[in-house]
This record gives sequence, structure tokens and C-alpha cells, in this order.
Amino acid sequence: MTSINHQIRLAARPVGVPTPSDWELTSEPVPVPGRGEFVVTLAYLSVDPAMLTWINATSAFVEPIAIGAVMDSAAVGRVTASNHPQFVVGDHVSGAFGVQEFARSNGDGVTRLDPLLAPLPTYLGALGITGLTAYFGLLEVGRIREGETVVVSGAAGAVGSVAGQVSKIKGCRVIGIAGGPEKCRWITEDLGFDAAIDYKSQDIRLELREHAPDGVDVFFDNVGGEILDVVLTQLALQARIVLSGGVSQYAPDQARGPANYLSLIGARASMIGFLTPDYAERYPEARAELAWWLREGRLISREDIVEGGVRAFPDALPRLLAGQNIGKLLLAVP
Ligand code: NAP
Repeated sequence: MTSINHQIRLAARPVGVPTPSDWELTSEPVPVPGRGEFVVTLAYLSVDPAMLTWINATSAFVEPIAIGAVMDSAAVGRVTASNHPQFVVGDHVSGAFGVQEFARSNGDGVTRLDPLLAPLPTYLGALGITGLTAYFGLLEVGRIREGETVVVSGAAGAVGSVAGQVSKIKGCRVIGIAGGPEKCRWITEDLGFDAAIDYKSQDIRLELREHAPDGVDVFFDNVGGEILDVVLTQLALQARIVLSGGVSQYAPDQARGPANYLSLIGARASMIGFLTPDYAERYPEARAELAWWLREGRLISREDIVEGGVRAFPDALPRLLAGQNIGKLLLAVP
């Protein structure tokens, strides 16, 4: 086994989309577990749009990552050394282990995984924060009801693809907004969305009028910006806009407010943000239901896995902004 732990650290605060010079590849000895600690050999790292906000000096969600610190990332892996009473060598685990090859942990925030229930990457996809965000965003924040019309943006991405499928499972009519014909074909033909709008080549307003003539009951928004503005003009009475995220707004020079927010008044509608970890106590019940749907074949978890280990991280993150992923973007380690 190697004795070197490669890590990706933040070298500079990016201006706009991060470039390779904003990151530094460093090497350290593989950590040794202290008392009550264990070491995880990481297998897959999650690459998330929210990372763009974590590296801004004015992050809206979390304390910004310090210059020189190892980049944060959710990850899954296997315990390979342990002095911990509950986590033993061979356990598969997930946690916020960072963009590196090995992580030392005292077990805080770490979840033991069952690799027989689902492959490891799925624990960063439909059974990870991705799936949980779709689940709680729709069921708790959006309070979707059978027969309602749900629109999902970023619909062929990690969260969006699960959100559309969960809406279908709950008996809603689902329209996905995604970039390009391949993504639109995937969500309608393979995932069962009722309709797809290719925002890169179609007029969203006209398409929404056709596919949601009575208006949108729930908008699960992952991207914000212009798409949010258009959907705001097509709301049904008592509509709920669930603010999952705003990928189009995450680079510091890109943010702008929604111009059409006053339509919330006429529609008596609401727009609610949420953070999935607020539901952490209910993760086991949600995971059990998501796992059941996966097993029944009613839910598909697609992971888009980039090879190349932590070295490939600087090139992997911008793929999300360029829409180059379908499903959950992961990095395989090493
Ligand atoms: P993702 O959707 O898999 O990837 C991002 C996608 O966004 C891209 O594939 C691209 O798809 C689309 N996109 C990028 N730039 C865009 C633009 N300017 N306009 C429209 N679409 C654009 O990412 P994810 O991991 O599932 O995350 C989705 C959202 O969920 C993010 O906003 C994230 O922050 C949020 N999230 C929230 C929570 C929470 O607790 N609230 C937790 C996890 C994730 P196209 O090819 O279709 O453009």
C-alpha cells in the first residue's frame, strides 16, 4: 500500500469559474489513526455545484474554505486502519472526507454503508445527499400531491433526475428542463418524465404553456437565473417554488435577482429555500424508502464517474457548469 496521501488544496479564490491554477496538489504521509480514530481509503469523491460557493469569500451557505486548506468533499471509502470501537477495518463508510486519497476520522458525521444493498457510488447518488435533497425538497418543502404538475430544472443532473422520478412515483405530472437533446431523451425515455424542455434550443415559456396549461404547482429549482424567471410567470394558484440551488448563479460574477418575483403575489405562491442536513435525523427512513424504490426498479441512480483520482478534480468541477455531466458527477480515487 502507498504511504503517500495526495490532496487538493485551495490555492487562490477564483474569479469566475475556477481554473487549475486556483488549486494545488500536495502530498503528505498517509495518516495514522490515533486513539478513537480510524483511517478511510477513499474510493469515490462527490463533485458538487455548491463547491463553487464554498470557495467564494462570501459563501451564502457555509464558512468559506480557507486558502491552503484541503478542499471539502463528501466521499465514500473503506476503513483500512482503526482504533475506533464502532468502525472496524473493512467497513464501508461515507462522510465529509475531503478531496484526498486517505482521511482520518473520529466517526463524527460518518455513516456505515451496506455495499450489498447498493454499489458504493450510489451512496453519493440516489442514496446520498443527492437523493435526500430531492426527497425532502419535494415531500417536506414542496409538499407535492398526487395529480399536481411539477417542473424540475437541472433535470438530467444528480438531484434533478431523482426529483423527477420521485415526483412520478408520487403520482405527479413531471416536466423536466435540461440542456440538450441527449439529456431530454434520457429523462423522458428512461426516467419516465412526462415532458422535457431543452432550454438551449426551445422557448421555455411556450413549452410550459403547452405542457402545463393550468400552471405549475411545484417548481423544484436547481439552477435559478433566467429559467426561474420564466417559470415564475407560469405559476398555478398556491404554487410552491422549492429552492434547491442555483447553479447558474454560483460563480461570483454571475448572480442576479429574479425579475418576475411579484408574480408570487397574484398566485398566492411561496418560494422556500432549504438545506438537506436540517433533516439529518430522518435520513435513515428516507434512505430506506429510496433504497426500496431502487430495488423495485422504480428509481434509477446514474453516476457519471470521472477517472484520474484527485489530480482530475480541478478539471472535473467546471464540467458541472458546462453541463457535461448526466446524473451524479463523481471522481474515482486513485
Ligand atoms: P447537477 O444538476 O448534477 O449538475 C449541474 C447541472 O446544472 C449541469 O449538468 C447543467 O445541466 C446545469 N447547469 C449548469 N449551468 C447552468 C446554467 N447556467 N443554466 C441552467 N443550467 C445549468 O448538480 P447537482 O449535484 O444535482 O446539484 C443540483 C442543485 O442542487 C445545485 O444547485 C446544488 O447546489 C443543489 N443542492 C442543494 C442541496 C440543499 O441542501 N439545498 C443539497 C445538494 C445539492 P444542463 O446541461 O441541463 O445545463
